[in-house]
Amino acid sequence: MIINTMADHRAQAKRMLDVIKPLSNCLGSDPDIFFDETIEGRKHAKSICASCGVRSKCLDYALKYERYGSWGGTDEKERMQLRKRLGIRLVDIYVRQQHEVHA
Ligand code: SF4
Repeated sequence: MIINTMADHRAQAKRMLDVIKPLSNCLGSDPDIFFDETIEGRKHAKSICASCGVRSKCLDYALKYERYGSWGGTDEKERMQLRKRLGIRLVDIYVRQQHEVHA
């Protein structure tokens, strides 16, 4: 698939979330859990992700599309480092911060 426009990116992100969401450990959780920037908050989010069956898919998605919050067992800083190492460019598809998996 060739992705050329922001609309293409949004559509791809939505498809990825549609796959992730129904199988996620965090479905129905309070989204704030995944945006708690305290050490304890991040640990708690990571503990939920640890046994999630779609963790790798979630991380793939988040590396591409999510700047903020905990996703796929990683926090913002860890994803930034992974992007650098793997040569992945973050695409800012959202005007405002969202966390649709948890909604
Ligand atoms: S944030 Fe991602 S890895 Fe963590 S529980 Fe939710 S879907 Fe799973």
